[in-house]
Amino acid sequence: MQFIVLDLEWNQPMTFQGGGYRAAHGKLLFEMLQIGAVKLDSELQICDTFNQLIQPSCYFRIHPHIRKITQITEDDVADAPLFAEAYNAFYNWCGEDGVLLTWGCDDISVFDQNIHYFGCQQPLPPVYDLQQYFGQLIGSPKERKSLKGAMEYYQIDPNENKSFHNAVNDAYYTALVFAHMQAPEKVLSFPLKARTLVHQDRRKRTTVSVHRASRGPAAVIKTQFAQRTPCPVCGKLSPLSAGYVKQGSDRYTALAKCDNHGLYYSRLHFYTDEQKVRQAERVTALIEEQNSAYVSTKILQWQNKLSVQMDEKEQKKQARELKKKAKPTGETT
Ligand SMILES: [Zn+2]
Repeated sequence: MQFIVLDLEWNQPMTFQGGGYRAAHGKLLFEMLQIGAVKLDSELQICDTFNQLIQPSCYFRIHPHIRKITQITEDDVADAPLFAEAYNAFYNWCGEDGVLLTWGCDDISVFDQNIHYFGCQQPLPPVYDLQQYFGQLIGSPKERKSLKGAMEYYQIDPNENKSFHNAVNDAYYTALVFAHMQAPEKVLSFPLKARTLVHQDRRKRTTVSVHRASRGPAAVIKTQFAQRTPCPVCGKLSPLSAGYVKQGSDRYTALAKCDNHGLYYSRLHFYTDEQKVRQAERVTALIEEQNSAYVSTKILQWQNKLSVQMDEKEQKKQARELKKKAKPTGETT
């Protein structure tokens, strides 16, 4: 078995609404631009390096944000091999007994999506997560420390000739971190699986709108603004499936359902603006889980919450009435 530390750089479409992304049928969230990797010997010293830029097939312009962090330009990749050729070279370089180590699961998820998108047949070698093992070593397994954070932890100084966000340099730094870890072979207890990458357009999954609320929450909740709210995906107005439950002093949440896009939250937040006017902000947001069992359970739970809230209200009302009745008559209030 030979440890190989891997790092990638990738590009993204200019927008997720544009033709480039649609042409890829939404199946290529990030297009790889560079594969960087180092092979380690039995002493965990670097004994070989793989560095390959990749010519884009989908997103020909490099997103300004990506260019800024990676320093990779369109010219740099113009004459590079296409993905399939680059991957093939990497696959052969890894050899039969290579295992891959990466910092977190992003790289492997992007790699996996590119391999599928470009129809490559050879599967990646097994992959293990150094970031997760590092979290375990420092006693906070849930924490996702950055590579820089881990370097600081082991007092590894960056080399001024090796800038970050270059796949080869990041692989080099990751290998240095790995060589500092105690019981490095225990990283094999942290296998990684690629996640499916899907684009979640936040703007398309929420709506925000503001309404004057001078008459208070109870009055606003009765209005159409609160009772018929827009689906966060298509904007179609739908009635509530389960009414507003108070959640905190100025916040109320209800459930609504669009026939086409499923269950969403309708949230009201009451606040006072700069002109000292009371306002209600309404946000609708799609709920991620949409299978029918989940949806019906969620609605039932909500109705339950509502009835608890109603009971509390009713009890308070009755208590007030009892108090009133208990007061001696004839007294002015
Ligand atoms: Zn809808």
